[in-house]
Amino acid sequence: MTRPLQAQIDLSALKHNLGVVRGHAPQSRTMAVIKANSYGHGMLRVAHALDTADGYAVLNVEEAVALREAGFNQTILLLEGFFSVDELPTLAEYRLASVIHCPEQIEMLEMSGLPVKLDVFLKLNSGMNRLGFRPEAFGAALQRLQAARAVGRITLMTHFSCADEAQGIATQLACFDTLAAGLDAPRSLANSAAILRYPQAHGDWVRPGIMLYGSSPFADASAASLDLKPVMTLTSAIIGVQELQVGEAVGYGAAFRAEQPARVGIVACGYADGYPRHAPTGTPVLVNGQRSRILGRVSMDMLCVDLSGIPGAGIGSPVTLWGKGLPVEEIAAAAGTISYELLCALAARVPVVEI
Ligand SMILES: *Cc1c(COP(=O)(O)O)cnc(C)c1O
Repeated sequence: MTRPLQAQIDLSALKHNLGVVRGHAPQSRTMAVIKANSYGHGMLRVAHALDTADGYAVLNVEEAVALREAGFNQTILLLEGFFSVDELPTLAEYRLASVIHCPEQIEMLEMSGLPVKLDVFLKLNSGMNRLGFRPEAFGAALQRLQAARAVGRITLMTHFSCADEAQGIATQLACFDTLAAGLDAPRSLANSAAILRYPQAHGDWVRPGIMLYGSSPFADASAASLDLKPVMTLTSAIIGVQELQVGEAVGYGAAFRAEQPARVGIVACGYADGYPRHAPTGTPVLVNGQRSRILGRVSMDMLCVDLSGIPGAGIGSPVTLWGKGLPVEEIAAAAGTISYELLCALAARVPVVEI
């Protein structure tokens, strides 16, 4: 038998979650966000499972070209746009759409002499202050793009900083709406959180990421309560058992010490697999389908779990690190991070199985 760790990817859950997106934003086209290797789920695998999506959003030209070459005909959007003029012929050849977020990119388009027209998503910095034109520069950027020979369809776009938080989107949405008022151009604003909570921000293209993968963008709402199904389930098995006597410790730093006799299971999964090293004692785990907790420090290839309440468990018992029956958000919260980071960090060495 090989090392028992694997990531199961549930393609029917992906399709279900796309249906949830569509249910919330029935008037909008869906741009499936598949950057970061589809949040760790495998870019092409996810693109195929979501082949009814109207478009895909990725980070770099290599990913976009791989999608086109795999036969996808939909809109493919580069979320940070192009980085140098050398990339423009490839964008033209593969009909890739580009975010335009700075004047330097417009200049490159103007100078390019491209024989075809590229579709662009002009990005407004409506308050996140990451990428995009400030409101006072937006109109001029739009005019330059409208005049540029290498530019085809222009979609207006912004990105929210607080759609998942109490602060919400009101200020940013008002900024966008003011600038977009009267312009006859498609609009794209909403990430998962805005799709779920702010129908007034759906626009023509929604851009779901995390919800497609079955995880909640909110700290105050579970994925299940949003009808989202987890796509990735990380499973392994117990490969060793230790009986600790009172006062004995387990793992590096002797970070967990038994106050009563304890049965400890050693699981084939560690931080080199993508499990967060900062997950402390008490982080939930399923053993034989029963809830338990990890003990002590996560090491590179292994972690330890409490078998004290699970008498039937032993070597070979199945372990769920996250996924079905154990939302990844819970592990993320215990480790002081968000589900996005855990999913994206799934290590290349973990075998992936489609179910
Ligand atoms: C990553 C990203 C998204 C998707 O965000 P989720 O919170 O995962 O839904 C949408 N838009 C842009 C610009 C992004 O970078």
